[in-house]
Amino acid sequence: MQKLIDGVAKFKSEVVPEHQALFDKLATGQSPDVLFITCADSRIDPAMITQTMPGELFVCRNAGNVVPPHGQSIEGTTASIEFATAVLGVKHIVVCGHTDCGAIKGAMAPQNLDAIPRVQDWVDHARAAVKAAEATQGEGNVDLLTATERNVVLQMSHLNSHPAVAARLAAGDIDVHGWVYHIGSGDVTAYDSASDSFKSVTH
Ligand SMILES: [Zn+2]
Repeated sequence: MQKLIDGVAKFKSEVVPEHQALFDKLATGQSPDVLFITCADSRIDPAMITQTMPGELFVCRNAGNVVPPHGQSIEGTTASIEFATAVLGVKHIVVCGHTDCGAIKGAMAPQNLDAIPRVQDWVDHARAAVKAAEATQGEGNVDLLTATERNVVLQMSHLNSHPAVAARLAAGDIDVHGWVYHIGSGDVTAYDSASDSFKSVTH
């Protein structure tokens, strides 16, 4: 814990003064262009991956970068999506999965989660992605990356069920992107709907 406290001290004494104009502006409001929905995994740093500054990404995180279909229950992700799209007016939504995702591993083998029933319930939101991967790879033969990619596509589709997103999509003034962050190489692949596959986002 001391490491975090030392970090706060350094942030206040060194980092804030370095970007004082930005932090002064941010002190009274935010107008991010992007809602970034990603996994809670400690290895993902949205700002580092995208080289963005505070105020640029409205970040919403949960296990497995899940977008629960609207109306299932009132929870934080749904509220964050509504606020970001209806109030902040973000122009883009990125659903970002990642390699070696524990939530997707759980969705592939929910029987291993009997001791953590809430996690088991939550990753059920990704179960349809595993079934979609099984359709092409066969039951029991699904590889983790394919299930992870299918989960991003699945959660992107769930966004359509959220009224605030549907309204913006109908108006044609918001774009939805699906990404997978590859831990280790730093690659980010993006969903290409025309080919129904993921390609490097930098090409
Ligand atoms: Zn994860």
